[in-house]
Amino acid sequence: MTCTDCARAATTWNWHGYRNGCPDCQVRAIAQSPRHLRELRYDQIRRSLSEADALALIDRVREEHKRIKALKGNNDGQAHH
Ligand SMILES: [Zn+2]
Repeated sequence: MTCTDCARAATTWNWHGYRNGCPDCQVRAIAQSPRHLRELRYDQIRRSLSEADALALIDRVREEHKRIKALKGNNDGQAHH
């Protein structure tokens, strides 16, 4: 894990501690955002990075989003995911 906030977020789906300068926290912050904010961030990323870098970053956000959703499902103790 990159930092202690990322370490907590690994086991706590709704952990909202983020560190400036931690790339994993930045990815997680976007992944935790509501869909319309995420789309805005994706646009900004596409404009500020090269195509390949933007796609790689967006891919990481999508993976993180899936991870958080799976973690949330497990913590509910219900099989609704
Ligand atoms: Zn972090």
